[in-house]
Amino acid sequence: MRRILLAAALLMAAGGAAGLDLQGHRGARGLLPENTLPAFARALAIGVTTLELDTALTRDGVIVVSHDTTLNPDITRGPGGGWITRADLAIHALSWQELQAYDVGRIRPQTAYAQRFSAQQPVDGARIPRLAAVFDLARRAGNNSVRFNIETKISPEQPQLTASPEVFARALIRLVRAENLESRVTIQSFDWRTLQIVQREAPQIATVYLSAQQPWLDNIRARDVSSPWTAGFHITRYGGSVPRTVKAAGGAVWSPHFGDLTREQLREAHQLGLKVIAWTVNDDADIVRMIDWGVDGIISDYPDRLRRLAAGRGLALPPATPVTP
Ligand code: MG
Repeated sequence: MRRILLAAALLMAAGGAAGLDLQGHRGARGLLPENTLPAFARALAIGVTTLELDTALTRDGVIVVSHDTTLNPDITRGPGGGWITRADLAIHALSWQELQAYDVGRIRPQTAYAQRFSAQQPVDGARIPRLAAVFDLARRAGNNSVRFNIETKISPEQPQLTASPEVFARALIRLVRAENLESRVTIQSFDWRTLQIVQREAPQIATVYLSAQQPWLDNIRARDVSSPWTAGFHITRYGGSVPRTVKAAGGAVWSPHFGDLTREQLREAHQLGLKVIAWTVNDDADIVRMIDWGVDGIISDYPDRLRRLAAGRGLALPPATPVTP
């Protein structure tokens, strides 16, 4: 009897409690405006393990949730209600108060972006939220287990658009500590400099090493021999292996673009003791393939789809916690 219980407990630890990390990308971008409170509320209502989101720092030091370092003309309307046409309005140059004048509740019609997310429901009037408001939302939902995978949006190639890695990472660490959320937050970045700072200054907050080796984004081999993105850890010194490069940087979690990932790399990462979180996986067939390969987590614009397919595979599911945004 004891042996059976022990076996059941071990099974739970392997496939149950540790489960598949279901991450709602920018909340639930396929369903509601990205990185807004309504999108995060939807993800909480669907039931995700983790809210994935991106951050920027305003001129007056408020951490806000935005994928773009500059206001994105594809999703942003100005104080007069018209679509912004400039692509150079850096969030870092705006105060929190100034930022509140912009509406990010709808994708501009007829853009490629609108076509790509044609099922997204608009929420006119939605604003770029403070990161603290996302934490509050989860609290109001009574959800004490959801995790936050927080990306620092910062580019070593465009330092003028953001705070420095130190200022950015320290602001984030300060807020996470003040909210007492060290154990439920991961800080992720393509710019590994911010991750090195977090590991040094707040080792109790886990880091996630993002990688992309796509024609439209490559932070691993950018400028080939000395990518400014990887904090001095270059892949050529680690046999051309991204998992080994992440490991050398002190990482415990590797988050590759799912199109870059191979079964061999996944096996290598697991052998190194790394967890692997694939982004951004939206098609049923791709999600199922990633689950069957045995990734540790999946980031999707459609957390509803992700949850349905995980349920179909008999995986443990996180609680669903409805809340009004
Ligand atoms: Mg992100």
